[in-house]
Amino acid sequence: MKPVVYYGSARQARLDAGETLPAKLDLIIDKLNLRDRVKDELVVLKMHTGNNLGYSTIHPLFVRKVVKAIRDGGGEPFIADVEWDVHGAETRGYTAEVLGCPIYPASGPSNKYFYSYHRPFKNIEDWRLAGLIKDATFMVNFAHAKGHPSCSYGGAMKNLALGCMAGETRSAMHDSCQFEPYFFPEMVKDAGIIQQVVAVCPVGGIVEDKHHPGQLHLHIENCNQCGRCLAVAPKGSLKIDKANFHVFMEACANSVDIVLSTFAKEKATHLVLATQMTPVCDCFGFTSMPIMNDAGIFGSDDIIAVDEAVLDATANSPLIEGNLPTSMEVHTREGHPLRWLHGPLKDPYMVTEFGQQLGIGSRQYELVDVLPVESIQFAPMGYIPAK
Ligand code: SF4
Repeated sequence: MKPVVYYGSARQARLDAGETLPAKLDLIIDKLNLRDRVKDELVVLKMHTGNNLGYSTIHPLFVRKVVKAIRDGGGEPFIADVEWDVHGAETRGYTAEVLGCPIYPASGPSNKYFYSYHRPFKNIEDWRLAGLIKDATFMVNFAHAKGHPSCSYGGAMKNLALGCMAGETRSAMHDSCQFEPYFFPEMVKDAGIIQQVVAVCPVGGIVEDKHHPGQLHLHIENCNQCGRCLAVAPKGSLKIDKANFHVFMEACANSVDIVLSTFAKEKATHLVLATQMTPVCDCFGFTSMPIMNDAGIFGSDDIIAVDEAVLDATANSPLIEGNLPTSMEVHTREGHPLRWLHGPLKDPYMVTEFGQQLGIGSRQYELVDVLPVESIQFAPMGYIPAK
């Protein structure tokens, strides 16, 4: 049987509070039967509290509703996020007083509270799962959908994959992109060509390696795989290859597999708010400009299905190119708009594909609209002359 994804559209038929997204969140909470499931549970509400000057993260009004539902059901909620985002969360409106429960750094204030899981993957041997995530007995994963510079899309999977690991593992996950070699200096006869390769990249995607002068270092986050550097680099000396791009998405899937292995299947549920979707992750706080139409709110017990549903719902959204920083370039218009933005080797569906391969969930799902938008029939007015 396909997992169900409950969905509330961002659209309304009328100017009616009962049709707003917070009201639809209430309907999704009911459908997920959240209150009945959290009695006597220590519930971690994993969200992203943003960073710096970002204001596109989940509005406190939504978070407070989830916290209240947990309390109404007899659960003990707390919010967890990575330490560098929790420090300063109050500047973006997240306080215990507003949200109704405490906000903790998931691996402790000094990033030293974690449990190790041995799972060799590329450059990672042991994964450091944040201690407070493991201590919880129920997980409510509340993600904000947006773009991401490494994996193109940040949603439910990304919220757990990075946000539930201690700092050293988060860094190692990003470094996994460097695991497979992509630069072969023995193929370069003219050392001056290195500076030309660096200069041809319009987005700072490739630089001279600061630890190994004369070698090239690829900034995967910046690179949109336009191929200009390949046109300049001597043949065979440089690769822009999926081995260096897909690995981060596979690392995310492995991380989520570890996180969810600590909860019984019925003790985790996932919500995604797909509004004010920005080009890059909320970690940066660089921009809060939306680049796609708001899609709505989604909820499911299947983390893969809920992310897949968000991607499908936004797949045909126009990319609001006027809201993009001028430093970002669109050079392909195939596939999902986030793929246009981050390049063909950062297909947003790769995260759900790797997750499905690990058996975390299903890319096939049944979508249930909790409050379908009614189409309004206007009375035919016929011809009315202008006054
Ligand atoms: S492929 Fe394009 S964006 Fe990536 S490093 Fe090369 S020039 Fe830069």
